[in-house]
Amino acid sequence: MKTYEFWFIVGSQCLYGPEVLATVETRAREMAETLSEVLPYPVVYKVTAKSAGEITDTIKEANYHDECAGIITWCHTFSPSKMWINGLASLQKPWCHFATQYNREIPNEEIDMDFMNLNQAAHGDREHGFIGARLRSPRKIIAGYWRDAAVQARLGSWMKAAVGAAVSKNMKVMRFGDNMREVAVTEGDKVEAQIKLGWQVNTWPVGELVHEMDAVTDPDIDALMDEYRASYDFATDDIETVRYQAREEIAIRRMMDREGCAAFSDNFQDLYGMRQLPGLASQHLMALGYGYGGEGDWKVSALTAIIKAMGENGNGASAFMEDYTYHLVEGQEYSLGAHMLEVCPSVAAERPRIEVHPLGIGDREPPARLVFEGKPGKAIVATLVDMGGRFRLVVQDIEAVKPIMPMPNLPVARVMWKAMPDLATGIECWITAGGAHHSVLSYDVTAEQLRDWARIMDIEFVHITDGSTPEKLEEELLIKDLIWKLR
Ligand code: MN
Repeated sequence: MKTYEFWFIVGSQCLYGPEVLATVETRAREMAETLSEVLPYPVVYKVTAKSAGEITDTIKEANYHDECAGIITWCHTFSPSKMWINGLASLQKPWCHFATQYNREIPNEEIDMDFMNLNQAAHGDREHGFIGARLRSPRKIIAGYWRDAAVQARLGSWMKAAVGAAVSKNMKVMRFGDNMREVAVTEGDKVEAQIKLGWQVNTWPVGELVHEMDAVTDPDIDALMDEYRASYDFATDDIETVRYQAREEIAIRRMMDREGCAAFSDNFQDLYGMRQLPGLASQHLMALGYGYGGEGDWKVSALTAIIKAMGENGNGASAFMEDYTYHLVEGQEYSLGAHMLEVCPSVAAERPRIEVHPLGIGDREPPARLVFEGKPGKAIVATLVDMGGRFRLVVQDIEAVKPIMPMPNLPVARVMWKAMPDLATGIECWITAGGAHHSVLSYDVTAEQLRDWARIMDIEFVHITDGSTPEKLEEELLIKDLIWKLR
């Protein structure tokens, strides 16, 4: 994981004289240092901007520096925003306009016109906001007192979304085989994905993976088996089958690391030369932070890796997921999510078990896989679909529950949840929006963060909440369709 930082650019102007400007700088440094102690990434004070040249130079530097994941601007005093136009017009990094104020209170005795001239963020941030709106710049606006924990949490959450954008811009996806025959939703415009999202999505032959698997040695496998034993219970005596998954995992990881890929996809229809569909192998790779998509779904694979990176140092619980089947008993309406094998153990409520069972699909030997129940809690599911000419990110709020029955004969990991606003309406909304059967389920990254990410990436965002109705959503989508066709 790269180390990222955020640049703090404070707006002012020369009008106030050196004494005021020195105070602004001292306070801005103090704010950057204080915020750096509590936020997930450092805030680096860069400049008290007094001219168009200073602003343009700083933004050009920000664009150039890979470690800069975004800029945070704030106007301690008034900062005439025509000074900002050239700089902001060339900005290529995520931008947060932090509408805050150094002092919390209006000091009754102390306040005079000097105080007013020094502390006029209310005034300056409106001028600053206008130019953001006038330029139609994608930006996050966070208002509130900078020492408040809730405000800091929002800033930290936006930082993670901005890091998700940086990760996206560097994303490389390794595809083994094409997507599943005849499936529509796993298709997509890979050129558009690279233009908009930065993703380099390319294919490698399954034969090359088999060749790489042949080169894996027994000591390599022994070492990974020790890792499996440390994290999982063995509910099988078929050690050779588990070792075969370890061989697959090592080979896939070596190929990905060699090419700088952070995500991969495979397809059960294209396993030529392989004895098992990767199950445990894919699950453990996801646990390590790699993205994965089944049936050649490179979109959900990259999205899984990005959401995992966005959740860095959070609870880490984000997984490739698939809506499988429903429980439609009145008062107990739930969705059961799973996959043929490949659910990430980061969402497990318990220590996962390694089991070996036959797989009816794919015509290969019974594969080893991790079996567990997902944990309860508030979460989201997110899916990315190609609408033709643009990508749409659909996010739905959900509430995961402990599965209401043990399902002893179900040989895969499973998560049970209640979709918002309720199962039936939630399904209607999801289907109205064209949401895929593949998604990323996350207990860690929020809908607000994904909205921020979508704004930065300049793609459509649709959020299904407890207030959604299919009627309102239909109208929203109709308008969005028009807007996106006009752009
Ligand atoms: Mn699937």
